Amino acid sequence: MLASKFMTKKGINVGDKVRIKSKGNEFVGIVLPSAEFLEIKLDNGYNVGFKVENIESIKVLAKGKTPAKPARAKLKQDPSLPLVSIVHTGGTIASRVDYSTGGVSPSFEAEDLLASVPELLSIARVKCMLFSNILSEDADFRFYTELARALRKELLSDSKGIVVTHGTDTMHYTASALSFIFENLPKPILLVGSQRSSDRPSSDAAINLINAARFIAKTDFAGVGICMHASTNDDFCYVLPGTKARKLHSSRRDAFKAVNAKPIAKVSDAGIEYLSDYPKYTGGGLKIYDKFEEKVGILKVRPNMFAEEIYFFEEKKYKGLILEGTGLGHIGITRGKNKENYKAIKSLIDSGCIVCMTTQCIFGETNPNVYVTGRKLKALGVIFLGDMLSETAFVKLAWLLGNFGREKAIELMPRSLRGEISPTRGINLL
Ligand code: GLU
Repeated sequence: MLASKFMTKKGINVGDKVRIKSKGNEFVGIVLPSAEFLEIKLDNGYNVGFKVENIESIKVLAKGKTPAKPARAKLKQDPSLPLVSIVHTGGTIASRVDYSTGGVSPSFEAEDLLASVPELLSIARVKCMLFSNILSEDADFRFYTELARALRKELLSDSKGIVVTHGTDTMHYTASALSFIFENLPKPILLVGSQRSSDRPSSDAAINLINAARFIAKTDFAGVGICMHASTNDDFCYVLPGTKARKLHSSRRDAFKAVNAKPIAKVSDAGIEYLSDYPKYTGGGLKIYDKFEEKVGILKVRPNMFAEEIYFFEEKKYKGLILEGTGLGHIGITRGKNKENYKAIKSLIDSGCIVCMTTQCIFGETNPNVYVTGRKLKALGVIFLGDMLSETAFVKLAWLLGNFGREKAIELMPRSLRGEISPTRGINLL
């Protein structure tokens, strides 16, 4: 039985103090948000998880208190300042730690951000919207489509730009998705998250939001970017290009970096310093292509692979696959059982699936012309993607297949549409 079900059955809530007997031992602690295992925080600060089946008895010693909501900000907007829309989707940036349980829960509504970051109101007029309150690992293609539709309204409004508050785990996938969905973007969309929740002294929520608002208020950048902490001090943020950024650290506040690209700008108390060329609005109506093909996957290449791993995508009728290859974009196909990998890729391509190759090195690019492996794969019809990030390639392939079909997807995968392939790195692709 799942712990969550067990808790409902026993009338146990997160925050309750309980005594548990399991496998002859006794434990006292505070119940944490639990899914599969029942988790409690012991007095010594450690968390323990129990399989429900192993719990011999459980007794509630004290009921937990429902944490009070923080006071709402009094919105005193300065009419002379530009309008910035903040669309909240979820993640740590709008979460807080419940110190009675030690759990982080996505519990703020968008306006509550202003209670913790009142400085925003001296930079811009702020309009907040709650789109969703999800952890970004739960995002799917439908989330991208619906978010784009919600953002469209803001893009056509009189706001100078949009901040999308978002969980950091998959922020770079969403940044890529929005980059592709919108054509002729008239204004900036900046994804902003935080690695530490806003009620912790080391939180980066405020600096990320403030710098995003600062940038939007002044810039003529018209594209999708990520605005996040960029150093180990609380001094500046980078605005990173939406299709060329990646979360490269699981916990540091400067987790996001531009990969095979420069940041667009450095933003701090001192203002905006542009570091590379960036897209500007040159006219034309906003276009939205918001569909995605569901049957697209990524397979990380590694030693000792089995052809059956590749046949899986054929059996399950996938329409697209990104092979995240080793080095210049390789998968073993020449020796021993690896020869079966070659047959499996051929069969997959013959079934109509588009197979593309990126590099798991992260930095650098694929090149099919250097080794025999690359040449054979290219001859089979594997599409090499240069320095495009695997995550971006995954989103792009699903997006191309969803909106334009197979032939167009084959033509456009190795061409840069939103800066996803560096201009100097596309030479080996076509
Ligand atoms: N894993 C959650 C998410 O990506 C929280 C982490 C965060 O926001 O940094 O939404």
